[in-house]
Amino acid sequence: VNILGIETSCDETSASVVQDGRTVLSNIIASQADIHKRFGGVVPEVASRRHVENITLTIEEALQEAGKTLDDIQAIAVTYGPGLVGALLVGVAAAKAISYARGIPLIGVHHIAGHIYANRLVTEMEFPLIALVVSGGHTELVWMKEHGHYEILGETRDDAAGEAYDKVARALQLPYPGGPHIDRLAHEGTPSIPLPRAWLEPNSYDFSFSGLKSAVLNTLHNASQRGESISPQDLAASFQDSVTEVLVEKTIRAVKEYRARQVLLAGGVAANRGLRERLSKRCGEEGLPLVIPPLSLCTDNAAMIAAAGYISYQKRRFARLDLNGVPGLPLS
Ligand code: ATP
Ligand code: MG
Ligand code: FE
Repeated sequence: VNILGIETSCDETSASVVQDGRTVLSNIIASQADIHKRFGGVVPEVASRRHVENITLTIEEALQEAGKTLDDIQAIAVTYGPGLVGALLVGVAAAKAISYARGIPLIGVHHIAGHIYANRLVTEMEFPLIALVVSGGHTELVWMKEHGHYEILGETRDDAAGEAYDKVARALQLPYPGGPHIDRLAHEGTPSIPLPRAWLEPNSYDFSFSGLKSAVLNTLHNASQRGESISPQDLAASFQDSVTEVLVEKTIRAVKEYRARQVLLAGGVAANRGLRERLSKRCGEEGLPLVIPPLSLCTDNAAMIAAAGYISYQKRRFARLDLNGVPGLPLS
């Protein structure tokens, strides 16, 4: 079974062909990061227009690289939320048009389910499992007892992890998106600057990053008031240390409490080297099987959408042709 995946929830226009939910035949990603860079963030109207310009060619390229035509595609899986409504609608409209024209089923996919299923392109899932989802808009611990079943154990009460990275990067005058730049700086510094860790209530699996972000901004502000200079490398290392310690320790606690058989890392911030290293080390110590997608499958892409869509295909959970973009679509 070949599924054509389409992703346009934010600023990547992506199309992919995935075979049997596991094998990536193509994964074309047209990133708009360069256009949004000069605005310091994604401009929704600009993103929608770019998706319109790119979508047809991206789909054609995905089919061509896979060596397939639409005759070889059994279903279309598309992200229908959460995300920017105007951006989502471009992918949804394209998917509906192909579904209608070719008479093949349409599958609506939750973007975060897609991030989680990027892991199934690496190895088979073992249930029950815990997924740590860390992206530009989400920070969640998700418990899955079977395919397509998601229970949120905890989530951020303010900023998402990626958002905190991007805001701290902006304060350090690094380009958008700042996450990768902080990651690089952090590896050149030492975590010598004391910053808070938001553990919240002892039993909570929730996260909070706005206090940490403020502490970083205050540290910079106070140093400049006193005419002192602060090492951006050390500040990045200290920030990364605080973020990753809380993310990793809460994940380990959840895995133990829920007796998970596997740990998955998902979302754009899963590309973070500090997080990958720390989570690998802790899972190794605890003897917990960990899966981390390759960098190319961590950030937004359509292969993960096709992989998640395959589960719905098997369950014959198809969408109707009145499928709409849902900006605030819940996961569970
Ligand atoms: P969501 O998936 O929640 O809808 P999104 O799709 O915008 O949000 P992703 O594309 O999944 O987010 O991830 C982008 C985020 O990942 C950005 O905030 C970016 O800074 C961050 N990011 C990417 N690489 C790294 C890295 N190496 N270290 C830290 N953050 C990173
Ligand atoms: Mg993006
Ligand atoms: Fe994403």
